[in-house]
Amino acid sequence: MLFDITVPTKEKFEIIDITDEVQKLVWKGKMKHGIVVVFTTHTTTGLLINEAESGLLSDLKLKMKELIPKGTGYHHDRIDSNAHSHLRASLLLNPEVVIPVDQGELQLGTWQRILFVELDGPRHRRLLVSLCPCPEMIEE
Ligand code: ZN
Repeated sequence: MLFDITVPTKEKFEIIDITDEVQKLVWKGKMKHGIVVVFTTHTTTGLLINEAESGLLSDLKLKMKELIPKGTGYHHDRIDSNAHSHLRASLLLNPEVVIPVDQGELQLGTWQRILFVELDGPRHRRLLVSLCPCPEMIEE
């Protein structure tokens, strides 16, 4: 089962907690056991799983900027001036995260949240949420 979600981002560089939205789709799809794949369809966004504490989110942004600064003579900047966004997405993040589901609940750790990272906003971003149920275990 495949769901589309649209995330309207508000800033150039923003980290958004989408955990509740993904959990609601697992309930909507009535999936009890399996995995959920969250996938971003863009080249200047990414996903990660970590704590959504505001200080940590600031640290993540600062570190990503430090590791891959904007506009230091990148070739792609001749086209649309966002090479740093593509590079951060490619080298520091992934286009997908996979989370196990049991009894209809995302099996995230206590502090884990699904974080969507906008690297070249603001824009309307399209994410896919794919529910992949596992067959029920057969009782012996
Ligand atoms: Zn580009």
